[in-house]
Parts: sequence; structure tokens; C-alpha cells
Amino acid sequence: MRPHIVVNVAMSADGKISTRERRQVRISGTRDFTRVDRLKAGSDAVMVGIGTVLADDPSLTVKDEICREHRRKRGLEEHPVRVVIDSSARIPLTASILTKGDGKRVVAVSKRADPDKIAQLKKIATVIVAGADEVDLCTVMDELGTMGIKRLMVEGGGTLIAALVLAGLVDEIYSFIGNIIIGGKDAPTLADGNGFVKESEFTQLTLVEARKIEDGILLHWNVTHATKP
Ligand code: NAP
Repeated sequence: MRPHIVVNVAMSADGKISTRERRQVRISGTRDFTRVDRLKAGSDAVMVGIGTVLADDPSLTVKDEICREHRRKRGLEEHPVRVVIDSSARIPLTASILTKGDGKRVVAVSKRADPDKIAQLKKIATVIVAGADEVDLCTVMDELGTMGIKRLMVEGGGTLIAALVLAGLVDEIYSFIGNIIIGGKDAPTLADGNGFVKESEFTQLTLVEARKIEDGILLHWNVTHATKP
């Protein structure tokens, strides 16, 4: 069975998730950071696109020691499985997501990835080959489900989230809206890609909660599915 997919992003008041140079910016504060860490600790796996790995080099480890201890007590690894979507296996072998903290890594590539790089990655991660040109996200979700991943957190970026939304795979979205304007028509947003054209194609959301955190607002949405693929 495919995992339940929860997207989490922080965006500026004008809907940008980083600058037009794709430079990481601090959008939320300490309290929201703690919320995100807990959300991560409660997930079986956490996923990002290769664009985010190359731009931000996140480790996606659980930072809070108490959260890590809870995971250990539940018989889990300290950190959720870390998953990268990376068609041509561009991920550096030194990337923090591959090198920091214990636990399992998965790199999902397409058939166009270099076999030598795949062989190198296989020494440190599980490699899923899915899709001819770009990674087939539905197949990846099937594989992750088979690996026992029930709850998957997606941390961005906008290209990957848009593709997951388009494929009807996303179940919940947490978007923290911070008190800054980043601006720039080319700055990434929560859902980039080509976007929908017809109103009938728009993804419908149901608002679960709107909560003030520090100087921003956290919106929690459920995605309304006709049928989940
Ligand atoms: P991204 O969404 O992290 O990764 C997109 C890349 O994934 C694609 O370019 C593609 O590269 C690969 N990919 C492979 N198969 C795919 C598929 N089926 N569908 C979609 N993508 C697929 O990159 P991004 O849009 O450039 O976002 C990065 C930016 O987001 C950075 O500026 C980062 O700081 C920001 N960010 C912000 C937050 C936040 O919460 N504020 C969180 C995360 C990231 P290949 O063709 O090479 O495979």
C-alpha cells in the first residue's frame, strides 16, 4: 500500500519558499522549527527533490534528542528513512542527507541515470530505478509502501510537490506563512511545475486548522481526493 503523504513547507507572505536564486532563507522561528522536527520524527520517511539537495544540502535528521529517544523506544532508527528523487543520480556522494546521522537512505533514479553512479550509491543507499526519463513517483510510492513506509513527509521543493499534487498522491499539506515578503516572479513556490489550466483540474483542499505561531500562520490542509491512485 502507498504511504500517506504529508507535505510541509514554509513560505513567505507572498507565497515564495526561497529566493529567485534558490537560496535557502529562514522563514519560520523556533516554535515552528520544533513542530517540523516532531512531524519528521513521527514519519517513517522524509523525502526531498534533488533541487533541494543541491540548493540547501539538508541532512533531514531529527534534531531534538527527546524525539530521537522516543523513536528509539519504539524500536525505530533515530531518523526516518531519507528519500531523494533524482532522475539522473546527480546527488553528490558527500551530500549531508547521505552522510549525516544513522539510518536508511533511498535514492530514486530513472533509467537515464549513470550505472556507475548507481553502483556507487548502492554502497550507501537503497536505489530505486523507476521511470524512463524522470522518476515515476507512483512506482516509487509503491516501492516505499513495500518497504513498510506508511507515513511519508515531503519537505520540498516546489517542483517535486507540484508533481506529487498533479499525480494525486498528496494527502495533507502544512504550510507555514511567515511575516516576510521575498518577491520575484521566478522565486520557487509551494507548487511550481506547469500548473493546472482548467478550473476543473485544480486540486481542492479542505482547511483543517489555521493557527498563529510566533509572527506567522500555520495552515493545515487535507487534500480532497476523488480517488487516490
Ligand atoms: P525540488 O523540487 O527539490 O527537486 C526537483 C527536481 O527533482 C527536478 O528538477 C528533477 O530533477 C527531480 N525529479 C525527478 N523526477 C521528478 C518528478 N517525477 N517530478 C518532479 N521532479 C522530479 O527542486 P526545486 O523546485 O528547485 O526546489 C528547490 C528550492 O526549494 C530551493 O530553493 C529550496 O531552498 C526550496 N525549498 C524550500 C522549502 C521551504 O519549506 N521553504 C523546502 C524545501 C525546499 P532531475 O530531472 O535532475 O531528476
